[in-house]
Amino acid sequence: DGRLDGAWAERWLRESARVIAEHREELIDLDRAIGDGDHGENMDRGFKAIVAKLDDESPDSVAAALKMAAMMLMSKVGGAAGPLYGTAYLRASTAVADSDALDGQAVAAMLAAGRDGIVARGKAQSGDKTMVDAWTPAAEAAVTADPADGVAALVAAADAAETGAEATKPLVARKGRASYLGERSAGHLDPGAVSSALILRAAVTAAES
Ligand code: ADP
Ligand code: MG
Ligand code: MG
Repeated sequence: DGRLDGAWAERWLRESARVIAEHREELIDLDRAIGDGDHGENMDRGFKAIVAKLDDESPDSVAAALKMAAMMLMSKVGGAAGPLYGTAYLRASTAVADSDALDGQAVAAMLAAGRDGIVARGKAQSGDKTMVDAWTPAAEAAVTADPADGVAALVAAADAAETGAEATKPLVARKGRASYLGERSAGHLDPGAVSSALILRAAVTAAES
């Protein structure tokens, strides 16, 4: 019904787990090209743990769902991405603490908080070839949607995240493991930007189901 409530947040997390599992090998291959080849495995482990937790107990709000996800990602994913995603979900949870159901403005606030968390933690700027290159355009696009329409904000964000992830291909990495490769990191998509775009598209799919 397009209502972005706790039930939607649970569907979002479950759909995220499904697409991350589906793209596990692709994320591994991307990370093998410019990192250590574990991003698909790390993310799949984290999201499987989230699903196990959801099977145990359904969260009663968007904020509770995001906070649970943050805890699982921080404890299960490891590497660079675990604390970065964990911080994103934790800040996103705080940003929607007072919402029963998100409108466009709340979606934009949630995504901006998530992005700010990643930047606070990892200190990457736009164009450094990281997940920030998916999250920043997503957060900026969400603001341009109708503030009353949460689903429209999610669609705008997912579209922008996908474009942003694609745009990491020619970039030279300046943060994270890929930066050790210098110029040789150019010509490959950033794995964390790709996983971020998958997760943001999952939010749309969850809203439409
Ligand atoms: P690790 O590099 O420790 O093996 P992962 O492979 O799980 O961790 O995650 C790598 C991803 O993390 C990169 O593709 C990039 O998107 C993201 N990343 C790494 N360092 C940073 C940073 N400082 N800021 C933002 N994102 C980062
Ligand atoms: Mg890695
Ligand atoms: Mg690693």
